[in-house]
Amino acid sequence: MNQKADKDHTSEKRDHSVFEADIEGQAMNLQYLKRIAGWVGPHKRLAMVSIILVVLASALAVLMPVLLSRVVVDGILMDSPNSLLPDFGLFQLNQWVQQFTGFSEIAAACIVYGSFTLICHTLYHLHRVSLARVVLFSLRDMRQDLFAHMELRPSSFYDRVAIGRVMTRITNDVQALIELLMGLGALIGQFVPFFIALFVMFAINAELTLHLLGAIPAFIIATYFFRQATRKVYRLIRNTVSQLNQNLQENLSGMQVVQLSNRETLNLQVYQGINDGNRKHEFHAVTLESAYGATMDNMVNLALAVIIWVGGGAALQETISLGSVILFTYFIDMFIQPIRVLGHQYNILFRAMASAERIFQALDWDESVEEPSHPKKMLIERINGHLEFKNLTFGYESGQPVLHDVSFEIAAGEKLAVVGPTGSGKSTLIRLLGRFYNFQRGTIFLDGTDLLDIHSRDIRQRIGVVMQDFHIFSGSILENITLGNPNISDKDGIKAAHAVNADTFINSLPEGFQTQLVERGQNLSQGQRQLLAFARVLAANPEILILDEATASIDTETEQLIQNALKIIMKGRTSILIAHRLKTIQEADRILVLKNGKVKEIGTHEELIANKDVYYTLSQLQFQDVTSKDRKSLS
Ligand code: ADP
Repeated sequence: MNQKADKDHTSEKRDHSVFEADIEGQAMNLQYLKRIAGWVGPHKRLAMVSIILVVLASALAVLMPVLLSRVVVDGILMDSPNSLLPDFGLFQLNQWVQQFTGFSEIAAACIVYGSFTLICHTLYHLHRVSLARVVLFSLRDMRQDLFAHMELRPSSFYDRVAIGRVMTRITNDVQALIELLMGLGALIGQFVPFFIALFVMFAINAELTLHLLGAIPAFIIATYFFRQATRKVYRLIRNTVSQLNQNLQENLSGMQVVQLSNRETLNLQVYQGINDGNRKHEFHAVTLESAYGATMDNMVNLALAVIIWVGGGAALQETISLGSVILFTYFIDMFIQPIRVLGHQYNILFRAMASAERIFQALDWDESVEEPSHPKKMLIERINGHLEFKNLTFGYESGQPVLHDVSFEIAAGEKLAVVGPTGSGKSTLIRLLGRFYNFQRGTIFLDGTDLLDIHSRDIRQRIGVVMQDFHIFSGSILENITLGNPNISDKDGIKAAHAVNADTFINSLPEGFQTQLVERGQNLSQGQRQLLAFARVLAANPEILILDEATASIDTETEQLIQNALKIIMKGRTSILIAHRLKTIQEADRILVLKNGKVKEIGTHEELIANKDVYYTLSQLQFQDVTSKDRKSLS
């Protein structure tokens, strides 16, 4: 036995509110970056290639202005190649090209410049493509890991966490990381030329370089303050966008209620309010961005004026060549651009850190259905399907049991109807049988084996569940019956549909079994969905059947179809029916009455009627289609 007497009898107690909490911008967290690097790891060779490519491209990007200013302006146009100033071998290269081609000096310079720019931009392109490849592959894997992880979280997790939150983590948060990693790549592409340019500038004229460096703090401070301001505005924009989405979703999905209650004008007003708030914040952001752009452009031009002032003066006194002054004006952009990009990345970085925190929180969420350490294999082709519930006590919340000491047995092949008032614990009973929750007090035996000693996967293979709501996956009708199970052929699926008489309506559809089902299956009636659910179970051919009967009323003709189909799928299977209709209850061999989580009565219909207790009252009050004739026979 796998009983854990020291544990509470509830499912695990966890604080799910942390999953719901808003995580806003986070500071830079190296730990997170290290973890993200874990997904980049398998692609690290390509990442290295990408970095080498950007270094080479940047070196060429810096050499191009050197060629123009030192070789063309100083060497050719001014005819004063100051040999003391570095030219990084470009003079010699130019001379070599000149000799090789037999062209003029200036034509050779054009060829060198043209080749440089071609190679430089090809390298940049290859860098960006390889970087994108690394980032997209890594985060595809991360998204897959997240999906796989969330697939294994148990029902107790999804009971408490909004699906929207989980979706955001898998979709938007990973997207934010894509932006971050791409952005970090862009930063490398900016900072490498920055440092190479700095090195070249110091080599040419240290004094002028220091003047320029003096301006950098001003750029950084301006960028910092603008980004602080825009960060707040962008947060407000994101909030209004998600409010717009939420409002839209609520209104569209409840359109019938909206129209029936004539709420169109009122709802439009609410939407207008949020929409206008969004406009205001967007406008604020555009204004700030424009002001920032203008300020930066002005500062660049001021720096240019400083170069002309200081550099031009030095050129007049011939302490610096004209080409060097021109070179400095070229390098200004290489100086400022990284700060601009860094400023832009600043917001992305904060948002991405919050996203990383949310992703890792989800990945680290280890709540799961407890599996046995040495699971007993159910190797036999077909089990008998004998079930015994023994002293089962369970609650979703600590200290609030909803099932109390439930004990009963179902013989192999027996059909048991479970009835009881709403909230009496009927669904909970079958959820525990499906191993959707952990339970510690009491247990369930399947053919004499403790359910807790069998892997949940093996149990679920033996159990077919027809829920009230037939869940439809996007795809054809046939795919919705076979569910992509390799053990179920298309032929089996069609045969199952035929057996439950679902094929009549399926064949009348334009594309028969290949008809695509729309989201939520709204092109199918309630009765048709129920028949499809039966076909799905029949195709899977489990030994145990659980039916949570739909409460919605169906027309008499469909009702007859469903009752016939029910008989067919119950045949030869141990069946537990959470029944609402008298007809279904009458199909059962015995009836179990649950009340407040306790077994009140168990026996045949006749026995329970004779008891004149809960079942008797329920049968008079609640069962949906108790006709006057039935009423008489019951009383
Ligand atoms: P029934 O199927 O008989 O209507 P349930 O088994 O659904 O009853 O519910 C039994 C009790 O457990 C109810 O009080 C219900 O509020 C509570 N309950 C059901 N599902 C959950 C859940 N996922 N989380 C917390 N409490 C639940």
